[in-house]
Amino acid sequence: KRRKTIGGNWKMNLNRKDSIALAEKLVGETDMQSLDLCIYPALPYLDTVAGVLAEAGSSIKLGAQNFHGKSNGSFTGEISLEMLRDIDCQTVLVGHSERRHKLGESDVLVNQKLRAALDTGFDTTLCIGETLKQREADQTNAVNTAQLCYGLAGVTSDQLRQVTLAYEPVWAIGTGESATPEDAASAHAAIRRYMEFAYGKAAAAAIRIQYGGSVKPDNAAEFFAQTDIDGALVGGASLEAEDFLRIIQLAK
Ligand code: 13P
Repeated sequence: KRRKTIGGNWKMNLNRKDSIALAEKLVGETDMQSLDLCIYPALPYLDTVAGVLAEAGSSIKLGAQNFHGKSNGSFTGEISLEMLRDIDCQTVLVGHSERRHKLGESDVLVNQKLRAALDTGFDTTLCIGETLKQREADQTNAVNTAQLCYGLAGVTSDQLRQVTLAYEPVWAIGTGESATPEDAASAHAAIRRYMEFAYGKAAAAAIRIQYGGSVKPDNAAEFFAQTDIDGALVGGASLEAEDFLRIIQLAK
């Protein structure tokens, strides 16, 4: 049985004080015996939140929403994986639809970043998902498969152990309109079939696939009840301790 994994992607939200307050509420409440939990604060507050987690001896993992694949050098404005490791960041997001669609990250860049993260020893979550137009054209599984194929190019079976997948239909992100649990389950099943084709039965059975897109306390349980859904990547509802803790509770 796969262990559920829940991520709180804070995106470009919360200031320093609110980031600390939210992290403090989470460390006090979470018992991580039965699931993995990760939070992704905004970059300026990563180090501060790392301090909160360390002080509490928390096993919540600290994640970065973005990074540059090169280890150092002339990349004005960028942050390297080495820097992230230096502040005890353990995991990163790659291929989030907001970076693909609002910031122009290509499949090639997503693949470069993913491989850099894996080579540096980071756990990584590869996000994939179709736009509304693609869904309406019945291309959901084709888009997911293509993003997996490009995204995971050159990733070995060994490295795949460091990878979690997140299926986040673009039209469901931040819109309040989630996929139905059945639609999500069908996309997840197709993703797992592709993973079996690419990496074999055992790897496909082991990899965790989170659902993301308007997950809230009142719909989370229906997603978690689906066989191929192994947790959630939560945006908006991860900004409120009470909502996020409720979602975590439902995943146990
Ligand atoms: P929402 O939960 O706000 O829809 O965001 C989902 C998401 O993009 C998580 O990465």
